[in-house]
Amino acid sequence: MYSFAQHKYTPIFHHQFCKNHSPIHRPQLYCSTTTSTATITTNTRHKPNDKPLVIEPRLLPVPPMAVTTGNPRPMDNDPSLQSTWSHRAWVAAGCTTLLISLGESIKGAMDLNIWGEPILAGWIGYILADLGSGVYHWAIDNYGDGSTPVVGAQIEAFQGHHKWPWTITRRQFANNLHALARVVTFTVLPIALVCHDPIVQGFVGVFSGCIMFSQQFHAWAHGTKSRLPQPVVALQGAGVLVSRSQHAAHHRPPYNNNYCIVSGIWNEFLDKHKIFESMEMVLYFKTGVRPRSWSEPASEWIEEIESPSQIQAQ
Ligand SMILES: [Zn+2]
Ligand SMILES: [Zn+2]
Repeated sequence: MYSFAQHKYTPIFHHQFCKNHSPIHRPQLYCSTTTSTATITTNTRHKPNDKPLVIEPRLLPVPPMAVTTGNPRPMDNDPSLQSTWSHRAWVAAGCTTLLISLGESIKGAMDLNIWGEPILAGWIGYILADLGSGVYHWAIDNYGDGSTPVVGAQIEAFQGHHKWPWTITRRQFANNLHALARVVTFTVLPIALVCHDPIVQGFVGVFSGCIMFSQQFHAWAHGTKSRLPQPVVALQGAGVLVSRSQHAAHHRPPYNNNYCIVSGIWNEFLDKHKIFESMEMVLYFKTGVRPRSWSEPASEWIEEIESPSQIQAQ
């Protein structure tokens, strides 16, 4: 088990060091001099050492965490990008859940004649949904794999997304949203059916709605300006939806920033204050698990350039 005391350097320094130099795992060579004592006349502090050249086993390199998508490169007409009736059913269930929640909020606001609080609650839900999208995105980008319970498929999908980012623009609507729609249905529908507080429902409805549609906002962030609907471009420009330039930074080395994909309003704060890096350090020292972003990017992690035929097909 590692500890700060053993390492003698601060977490920030350690993190930089891990990223740039992989210090603790880089092999260290110790050369021993074989000069005889008879030749040493000026510096008696250098004592002869006839130990052989050694490589300390504890400093042998650890292979970087494997990043495997488990999927081949998807083609434009790949079935994995198409919506199924199951996907559509889950998105319909998620949308119905959102309508019930927001409907309860509006109905309660009308009955009680209060509008300020539910609107404020909805606005807070919108702001916090961006933070929630960032935390979730960071978690599945850095930890777990395809075999992780519940979110394994999402982890694989996001790994595939880093290698082939443009495919999200080919992914059909329900295919892109069904996983989050399913989560919203299971978690929010019980609240929507039981709770009739307009303020709670204002928050829950907007928060879960932004989370569910975050993958659509994400897809738009990968769109080409000239091909996106004008209202979407305007909302991106106004900072209401995550901008294309901000999200593009997430797909450039070192692949460890700009995780938020609703409005992106939290990205600057989280990255400037190294919030996710601090969380990675805490998890590392508590559990020994290294996030994927600390490893030198494996070939699976690096974006494949879109071919000219694929660009024309957009
Ligand atoms: Zn990502
Ligand atoms: Zn992306």
